[in-house]
Amino acid sequence: MRAWRLSASGIALEEVANPIAKAGWAIVRPALSGIGASDVRTVQAGGFVGTLGHEFVGTIESIEGEAHGFKPGQRVTAWATAACETCDLCKGGLSEHCRSLAVLGQRALDGCLAELVTIPTSRLLAVPDSLDDEQAIFAQPLGAAIHAARLVALEAQAYVTVLGDSVLGLLSAQVMARRNATVRMLTEQPQMLELCAKWGLRHRETNLSGLRGDQDVVVECSGTADASAFGMVRPRGSVIQACPPAGAIDLGDAWSSEVQLLCARGCAMAEALGELASGSIQTAGMIGRTLGFEHAADGLALAAKPGSLKIAISHD
Ligand SMILES: [Zn+2]
Repeated sequence: MRAWRLSASGIALEEVANPIAKAGWAIVRPALSGIGASDVRTVQAGGFVGTLGHEFVGTIESIEGEAHGFKPGQRVTAWATAACETCDLCKGGLSEHCRSLAVLGQRALDGCLAELVTIPTSRLLAVPDSLDDEQAIFAQPLGAAIHAARLVALEAQAYVTVLGDSVLGLLSAQVMARRNATVRMLTEQPQMLELCAKWGLRHRETNLSGLRGDQDVVVECSGTADASAFGMVRPRGSVIQACPPAGAIDLGDAWSSEVQLLCARGCAMAEALGELASGSIQTAGMIGRTLGFEHAADGLALAAKPGSLKIAISHD
């Protein structure tokens, strides 16, 4: 089969052997993959040798051993992570922080930018029939937005600013707006400002917004290393770091204002599929480009541009 592989010499479309499912794993044929910021980070960081890609919707080809209720032919997506289930953290209920956590297409696990991918059946999720593939590929970033939002208790009409410039920002703003908060999204990307206007979300260009220190919560989804989130939040407010920062952040203002810094990396994926199926979260207009499988390297280059919308890869 063909697979988009990362190695020390870069990205290449290679012919590789079909994967073999271990007991408790399924073979899935992806139909549509999504490329996002974490795929770009994986390529830029180097170090991972394997098949790229962690967001997909596909069909189960076969299952080996424990099926967890799944069957061949079923349309599925999957969590990107797989834990060992035997280390102290897994046994202590922190399997998302497993000491040997594997991440699809990023760490110790071949990803979905291939004709076939193997996934533990315990990590599969059925995709509701009402969702098309173009909606379902947002399950992972939406799951991350839902997980991040849960880290704070919001008083009624709390003031929330989402530092956007990303698909995660657009989803976080929608999730926060559904929690009875007064939400505004700050982004420099015209297409993201347009989407917010269409959805009735308050929005503003980032550089037109002052650092007034009056927000109860700031959700940092832009992945920069600047400390503006701490300048926007009120004393003893909360900053949710919903994606990894691009570098070291100066925490001086955070310390003097006693700001809570909450780091969010988890993914409430089952809830995300439910929200998508209920139609409460908008995804139309959030796919910037859909490219054919053989153009996935171009997709990674597009996703690396600042403020990129979701790049989808069709496996047809
Ligand atoms: Zn573990």
